[in-house]
Amino acid sequence: MRALLLTNVDDEFSVDITEVAEDQLPEADTLVAVEYSTINYKDGLAITNSSPIVRSWPMVPGVDFAGTVLSSESDDFSVGDRVVLNGWDVGEKHWGGLAERARVDAGWLTSIPEEFSTYQAAAIGTAGYTAMLCILALEDHGVTPDSGAVLVTGAAGGVGSVAVAVLARLGFEVIASSGRVEEEGDYLRSLGATELIHRSELAEPVSRPLAKTRWAGAVDVAGSHTLANVLAATAPKGCVAACGLAHGMDLTTSVAPLILRGVTLAGIDSVHETAERRDEAWKRLATDLDVNLLDAMTTEVGLEAVPEVAADIVEGRIRGRVVVDVAG
Ligand code: NDP
Repeated sequence: MRALLLTNVDDEFSVDITEVAEDQLPEADTLVAVEYSTINYKDGLAITNSSPIVRSWPMVPGVDFAGTVLSSESDDFSVGDRVVLNGWDVGEKHWGGLAERARVDAGWLTSIPEEFSTYQAAAIGTAGYTAMLCILALEDHGVTPDSGAVLVTGAAGGVGSVAVAVLARLGFEVIASSGRVEEEGDYLRSLGATELIHRSELAEPVSRPLAKTRWAGAVDVAGSHTLANVLAATAPKGCVAACGLAHGMDLTTSVAPLILRGVTLAGIDSVHETAERRDEAWKRLATDLDVNLLDAMTTEVGLEAVPEVAADIVEGRIRGRVVVDVAG
């Protein structure tokens, strides 16, 4: 089978597309014929070796994939079932999706809702599923379209694009923050954003811990000063779902928004989320994501293009989602 393989021997890192024998796959109870994987931000970091994502070498990267069960020792899946996998340290500690086959634990797999083709499930991928987890967190904390606008940072990226599309369909007024307002303004409006702001507005260290309120909730992919500014401008009883670090890992802020406005900072970890919550997120995507918008935000590439796309995503140059045809 063809695979993208990352190796690190004596601190010499390399990325190769190579033939790997099926018996080299890690031990696990379920063998999947991978049709598509995708490039998420974390995959970009792993494939460019710019952050210590990979913890076991050699590694097939790819934190997600969609495909068909070839064999399983588990009663939960049968041959031919269409499945998607997101996270569970796959592509980090356990061989991941950028290969024609993957052997994984059945407990890591989610059935693809019948509303989606296998390709569309991959297009949603970890970024889209994470966007839905963020939106579920806002709902859990009482943020509704009547509460006021919701901000999405990194709006032109993968998590951001899906979040904008779903929130708009749910009836929210969506403010999209992007570093590419000029280039991607039309795109963001086509997904449903009603207001665009440049991310530079949120990029500097917080000057006032309680700023003028601008949104009832937010989906934040950026972290760092961006997240601090987002919290400072969140309305009383609002909620900010924080999932990313595209701006930075740090967070310098004060408790003022939390204790004086009752704002909730909800952390999102898609990698170790429970199977029940995953099923809930995928079911909601099936009803709340317009597949025409999903198709419009998705680009397809073959395995050969992956190193270049990985560099692009780390540099913030990718729009929406990139699906990889692992046989292409
Ligand atoms: P993408 O690269 O597709 O999107 C990230 C976007 O962030 C970019 O497109 C850009 O959007 C914006 N951005 C880039 N640099 C900065 C910056 N300095 N300040 C503010 N915004 C910036 O990545 P994904 O959508 O796949 O992932 C987004 C983030 O979410 C990543 O940090 C990723 O690690 C994290 N993540 C976390 C998960 C979890 O379980 N917690 C799961 C999935 C992702 P624009 O040009 O519009 O500004």
